[in-house]
Amino acid sequence: MDPEPIKNLLLITVDCLRSTPLAGYAAENLFPPGMQALADRGVRFDNALSLGGGTPEAFPSILKSCSPPPIHPQQDPDAYRRFVSEGPSLPEIMHRAGFNTAAFHSNPWLSRWYGYGKGFEHFNDSFSPGEANPVSSMGHIVNRIKPAIPQSWLFLSAYDVWQAMADPPYTRAEVETELAFKYASQNRNMRQFIWIHYMDCHQPYSFRLWTTSQNERTRLLDYARIITKLRRNLALSPEGRASLALYYLLALRRVAAQIDLLLSRFEKLGLLEETLVVLTGDHGEAFGEHEAYGHGFVDHEVLTVPLVFSHKTLDQGLVSHEPVSNADILPTVLDLLHIDSKVELVGTSLTSLLRKRSTHLSQDRTFFSVAYTPPRREARYAIQRGGWKVKRLITFPKPGSSGLVAYDELFNVIEDKSETKNVKDEEPEIYRGLEEDLEKHLRPTDKSWGAERTSGEDMAAVEERLRRLGYL
Ligand SMILES: [Zn+2]
Repeated sequence: MDPEPIKNLLLITVDCLRSTPLAGYAAENLFPPGMQALADRGVRFDNALSLGGGTPEAFPSILKSCSPPPIHPQQDPDAYRRFVSEGPSLPEIMHRAGFNTAAFHSNPWLSRWYGYGKGFEHFNDSFSPGEANPVSSMGHIVNRIKPAIPQSWLFLSAYDVWQAMADPPYTRAEVETELAFKYASQNRNMRQFIWIHYMDCHQPYSFRLWTTSQNERTRLLDYARIITKLRRNLALSPEGRASLALYYLLALRRVAAQIDLLLSRFEKLGLLEETLVVLTGDHGEAFGEHEAYGHGFVDHEVLTVPLVFSHKTLDQGLVSHEPVSNADILPTVLDLLHIDSKVELVGTSLTSLLRKRSTHLSQDRTFFSVAYTPPRREARYAIQRGGWKVKRLITFPKPGSSGLVAYDELFNVIEDKSETKNVKDEEPEIYRGLEEDLEKHLRPTDKSWGAERTSGEDMAAVEERLRRLGYL
């Protein structure tokens, strides 16, 4: 017999939440106490994949349990919005089932302009008057004059970093926590679905509160130097990489402390008992493992993310090594909250693993992931099954031209987790099998990258934020 349905859902997503250990740091650093406490009360998957290497590629799988989008919003905002809005999503299904639905975040890719407000009664994406809005008037002025100044100037990067620390291009974790908790406590008698997305681990990393003032100045300058190098595509020294990783970890500690605070406040209110808490990252973050930094790639360190389901009726403290994906979140949630929905899903419910009725899912599952970089006109794809993974890079020589396969690589991701040895020539049959499947996924989607941008006046605030986050 299944236990009673769980009453509420709290979905916590953290931008750039990596699960691959960082060189020079213990794995536990990526799971600070606030997050570990959550995992101890539930089940943690240590082999969870995101189907997208960037925010816009990953979130449709989380909220709709679908394959990643065939286009990037920078390539064609209207088509992307149509893709996001098409068919029922987690908030719509929950809303229809009688839940109060609310979202708290400040990621411009997830704003209402791209269709993410659908199904939420309360949607705080920080772009409405009266909502916590991180872009100050000073920020606006600086961003106007910035394009006229060479990016390589250290003082400008230092200014950028200072500005980012004083006035980050996103709402800080502390504010998001407060907003989400206030909403939860006001609606405590209703069944509710709350989604909170933290941005502090996204470049520029928000680590300021953890340092003393002298340390802080040194670190800010050091961080500015690192950012300048990355912008100029210069290699980082091993020390530079270690510092960058440290700043990321400090930002992560802030987020984890906020998650802990949010949960302890839920507990005090008696809400935690009756709430399923799901924690994941939209994608990870690279620190030079494959000569790249940040995200927007399909390598292990970018696609592998933590995934935790936490509730007293789940198998407390279990760590599952089963390969799962972020598209499995929606079907699992519907299952645990006993919500009927006849929607077509790419993911599978993980309930049998969460309640120890099985240790493996039956099928040999295939995971298809994408990452687009429209300014450089590149698309990266990965297909993974049974411990093998093919990575493909497609380049588009001109806007609107059809793609050219720059390379395909095959990796044994069980023996070679960090994907260092391409074994395509040694394993031609395995490669062929995966490559055929990859082609099937690409067939309907390999289309023009040249569509004109159609953004209007109303997107100016979204674009400004994207610029400050380093995208435009
Ligand atoms: Zn993201």
